[in-house]
Amino acid sequence: MKNLKKKKKKIYILKQIKQQEIKALKRAAKYRREFLGNVSHELKTPIFNIQGYVHTLLDGALNDDSVNKKYLERTSKSIERLIAIIDDLDALARLESDELKLDKTSWDILELIKEVFESFEVKSIKKDIKLMLPKNKTPIMVFADRNQISQVLYNFISNGIKYGKKSGYVKCVIENKEGQVSVTIQDNGIGIDEKNIPRLFERFYRVDKGRSREEGGTGLGLAIVKHILETHGEEVNVVSKQNTGTKFIFSIKKP
Ligand code: ADP
Repeated sequence: MKNLKKKKKKIYILKQIKQQEIKALKRAAKYRREFLGNVSHELKTPIFNIQGYVHTLLDGALNDDSVNKKYLERTSKSIERLIAIIDDLDALARLESDELKLDKTSWDILELIKEVFESFEVKSIKKDIKLMLPKNKTPIMVFADRNQISQVLYNFISNGIKYGKKSGYVKCVIENKEGQVSVTIQDNGIGIDEKNIPRLFERFYRVDKGRSREEGGTGLGLAIVKHILETHGEEVNVVSKQNTGTKFIFSIKKP
């Protein structure tokens, strides 16, 4: 009698575990379906644009000097868009497959911020946005995957410029704390309405699709950032106010 009860309990527990597994598999399948749907939707727009311009050029516009250069420039912009999407998808795929292969070393965060800011020199001048380095003077060592944190900084700073206002700024503030360093990337741009903040890190989510596309955004930048920081065991916080600006804050461990 006692044995039968024990067996029944075991079967009940096994059934619960299996049910949980089925639920997780269903969730993953739904997520995969949605992701593939989003990817093909994102690729369609630039591909159809390219097709449209090439057909128009072949149908005679090629010999019309008033439009041929314009159509070729638009074709080129759509190709750049496709490349940006593929690059970001590739980065996400690599991050997922290399999840356990973080290359953590000790390095100076101030030096990396300087390097990343320098790569935005031309873009920031074009948009008349001032890049402000941290005020700290002596090196601040951290222990993390340098390439991946470089990508995090690149994406935050790129967004600060993309969604910044003319004659605005993007600044980086470093707080040297015990055991960790806190990094803030702040802009005084268009800001984000509170209701959109919980969805910002979802793949392909954008507050204003038009503006993001116009600026060459793919909707994947913050998803990549979240992935990297989670793999490092860190969180990211957002403080933003519409028409005032945005702050992204995250921590990195010290050696
Ligand atoms: P995107 O390629 O569209 O910039 P991201 O994943 O980097 O994609 O960001 C998602 C969305 O979050 C953006 O489309 C934009 O609406 C919003 N966003 C991100 N950073 C900022 C910022 N600094 N200021 C205002 N909005 C931002």
